[in-house]
Amino acid sequence: MTDRIRDFLRLRRPEGPCLVVDLDVIRENFLNFSKALPDSRVFYAVKANPDPAVLKLLAGLGSNFDCASVAEIDMARNAGATADRISYGNTIKKERDVAAAYNRGVRLFAVDCPEEVDKIARAAPGSRVFCRILCDCDGAEWPLSRKFGCDPDMAVSVLEHAHRLGLVAYGISFHVGSQQPNPDAWDIALKSASAVFRTLSERGIQLRMVNLGGGFPAKYVRDVPAVKTYGQAIFTALRRHFGNRIPETIIEPGRGMVGEAGMIKAEVVLISKKSATDPMRWVYLDIGKFGGLAETMDEAIRYPIRTPRDGDATEPCVIAGPTCDSADVLYEKTPYELPVSLAIGDEVLIEGTGAYTQTYSAVAFNGFDPLKSYVI
Ligand SMILES: *Cc1c(COP(=O)(O)O)cnc(C)c1O
Repeated sequence: MTDRIRDFLRLRRPEGPCLVVDLDVIRENFLNFSKALPDSRVFYAVKANPDPAVLKLLAGLGSNFDCASVAEIDMARNAGATADRISYGNTIKKERDVAAAYNRGVRLFAVDCPEEVDKIARAAPGSRVFCRILCDCDGAEWPLSRKFGCDPDMAVSVLEHAHRLGLVAYGISFHVGSQQPNPDAWDIALKSASAVFRTLSERGIQLRMVNLGGGFPAKYVRDVPAVKTYGQAIFTALRRHFGNRIPETIIEPGRGMVGEAGMIKAEVVLISKKSATDPMRWVYLDIGKFGGLAETMDEAIRYPIRTPRDGDATEPCVIAGPTCDSADVLYEKTPYELPVSLAIGDEVLIEGTGAYTQTYSAVAFNGFDPLKSYVI
């Protein structure tokens, strides 16, 4: 926890569960990304934390923005980003939303099939498009499945189709899976990307850009390599597959930019057991899957949890949220070590919660308020 977050909580004593985000950490992360990948432009993935203060800080630092909807495009513009600094990176868009983005000046769009290219050609003529390719998210703690992207062979025809329709066949994108602990995960994807570059070049179409996506991790309970290590591995892979004709690159960090900047304050509501003989303690917090901790789904993301009794002897506990939905259990398959002395009413601090928390809690399920957020 940063001193600024500690002081904020001490002085303000906010009631109920809340997220506190330290802008100083985000500023430092942005500078670290810029240093680790000096030749890449940063397009912050707005969905990770779209708080106006976060976007304003990043816009001021020179960041570009990866947006998934017209609403996110407007958030980035309100934060001070001009349209040339915005990418409409969702491969699934209504044609009227493509038109709305085009009317706002956006000229960079993601596609992964000819049907989407057709929409862009009609609603955003002359724009640049990049084609997302499938990439196996091996090792990622929050894999992104097959929902986005196409086979690299198909990307060739998607981009040729775009070229024929008067669009600029601009490049290739991929995402190696979110919270990717392996810096070498980019290598295989870059190999596929370079093959598409070569094939299209033989057909007279010169791609110019590789979008390296997100995937840069935040530190949760396990240590992760530094951004610098990712930068080096990516540069090595670019050299290996593109030789001395390295294309323009962009990165789209979300979690790696804001995850470690946030901390959630929560409270122990109840500690109980299921029978006289069952040793397992159930610890119920005033925040759960519907209050902002959605990424504990399948126990994928394991947040560090601090208690006022750290240092005391621990035992494994099940941790659950406060709602009347039985899916609202955070950690059970792999129980969580918490102090035996932990008591009802104790305040707990959940670290690394700056990304993918507040916006996931946008509905007041069961009467629990959406997660409050303070950006300091
Ligand atoms: C969500 C998303 C990102 C951000 O991913 P992280 O793993 O949080 O860095 C980047 N690019 C696209 C297209 C996304 O959908």
